[in-house]
Formats: sequence, C-alpha cells, structure tokens
Amino acid sequence: MHDDVDVSRLPEGVTPLGDDIFAIDTMLAGYPGIVSSYLIRSERPCIVEVGTAGSARVLHDAVTAMGLAPADLATIVVTHIHLDHAGGTGDMAALFPNAEIVVHERGARHLADPSRLMRSAAMVWGDRLDTLFGQMHPTEARRIRSVAETGEIDLGGGRRLVTHYAPGHAKHHMGLVDTLTGDLYVGDALGVYNQLTGDVRPATPPPDFDMQACLSTLRLFSDIDAQRLMFSHFGAVDTVAETIDRARSELHLWVETVRESHGSAGDLDHAIAMVRDKVVSRYKPLPPDASPESAAVLDILSGAEANVSGIVHWLDRLEQERAEAERKEREEQG
Ligand SMILES: [Zn+2]
Repeated sequence: MHDDVDVSRLPEGVTPLGDDIFAIDTMLAGYPGIVSSYLIRSERPCIVEVGTAGSARVLHDAVTAMGLAPADLATIVVTHIHLDHAGGTGDMAALFPNAEIVVHERGARHLADPSRLMRSAAMVWGDRLDTLFGQMHPTEARRIRSVAETGEIDLGGGRRLVTHYAPGHAKHHMGLVDTLTGDLYVGDALGVYNQLTGDVRPATPPPDFDMQACLSTLRLFSDIDAQRLMFSHFGAVDTVAETIDRARSELHLWVETVRESHGSAGDLDHAIAMVRDKVVSRYKPLPPDASPESAAVLDILSGAEANVSGIVHWLDRLEQERAEAERKEREEQG
C-alpha cells in the first residue's frame, strides 16, 4: 500500500521502533518528552494517542512526512480521554478524514461533546488549561466507535490491536496489544516512566483513581506477558516484568505514605510534603542535559500534588462507603 520509510531521514521527534511502529513526540505545549503518540504504519495505519489539540498539527506533519496521505490513516485510538492523551481528537478527526476514532465506551460521549469534560478540566487546571492543553473540539459521533471490556482494531494483513479495559487511573482507560509484536500500549495505567533515569512513578489523579482497580489492571498487564511496554509518558520499555513490578511497588509506597499522613490528622499539604520527603526524594536526579521545562510540566501532570489529591480522594471515598455499609447493617439489625 505504501513504500518503506527511510529511517535515516525521519522527521525530528520521530523514533523508529521496528515492525512499522514509530513513536512520535507530540510536543505538549511545545515541550519534548512529555506525551508520546505511536504510528503503526501497517496496511491499515493506526495512531495510538493523539496528545492535545496543539499536537494534532505535529502529528499530521510527522505522518505526512513519512509518506502517508491524511486519507490513508484508518484508525485513531486513545487509551483514555484525559486531555494530554485525547485533547486533540476533534482536530485529528478533521485532519484525517477517513480515520475511525476508537475509545472506551465510558469515554465516547465526552469525545462527541467535550463541554462537561472541559468544564471540569477548567476547575482542575485553572489558568494552566489553555497553556498546557487548549480546547478539545468535538468529534462527530458517526466517526466514533466505542469498545467495552475488549475490542479489536484491524491493522491489515492479519495484524490487530486488541483493546483491554484497564481502569484504575481512570474509569475510561484501556490497554492495547499488538498481535504481531506483542507490544502493550499502557497509557497511564503503570504511571509515568522516565527515560532519562529509568524511574517509574504512579499516576493517581482525582477523581477516578482506584487502588484496587489499578492493582487488577497490573495483574492483567502481567498476564498479557507483553514483549514491550509502550508508555504514553514516555517511550518504549523492554524490561517488562521488572517495570510492572516497579510500578506496583511504587503505587503501594505512595498510597501507604498518603494513608499514614492522612490518618494522622494531616491536611492535603502535609500529605504532599510527606510524599515529597519520603517518596519523591528517592528518584534519581535528572541528567544535566535534561530539559528542566519538560520536567516541570511532567511534575504538574503527574507530580506529588495531583497524585496525592487523587489518593486522598480515593481514601475519602472508601471511608464514605464503609460508613454507608455500617449504617445499612445497623438498619437491618435494628
Ligand atoms: Zn497522561
């Protein structure tokens, strides 16, 4: 259907990963190394993750520079609908007129009508909404295909991407497995992988973070026995079992640290300070040539503040559920 790509002349920000897979840096808010998209340049080409509205043009230029016409793109799939992953979906649908948009069923209606999503994003991000993410534009409902527990995307030539519902980070999150390579696109389910240091830290934002769901998703991902892990933040990792184990132990450490400070009459700021002190300080320092701006933005997306807020939100929810269950029990007995 198309010629081979000359990998010695790829556009900037594009990394070949073999088997017609290319990582494309979406340059969130102009910064490198924060959100990666992936192009599978198979018979029916597919893009995994679109980044923000501002990234749509970056992806369009990278894809066309690699010899595909916009009309060739068959599928665009997002692991979940957070703005750093799916904010550009409406713009992408307009730029790639034949692409079907695949999303988990719990996210589908927000792609068709992002107004509620944008309102809650404005509450969370305030002034930073515009500089970091921009506006998500609606995607025509007829272009959207939603999938449930599992689903399939035809990549052509017998190759498929199989979707697996993978909640915990968000209720509308899924992982994707390439049947040719065994690569697993993990979205944010394992957290954020730092290519420069090899550290993995969890991504546990409000309002959806759910520890039990996260742990089930980690078990599912272990069982998939993937060849590689394709992180949205950031890049491909081939130490699969080790990285999943690390993600699990980090998750436990963050949650336990917040639980301790939360239980000891601590407020949110106290819990954040504890986590910075006991948990974040363990991570390796960035090498001197790393972009401090990118590090700062990643820290906003998935740093101590957002993660601790999500964990506290989840602990409060557990507490409410427990109180509710006790109340019911008393009623039944009484
Ligand atoms: Zn993310």
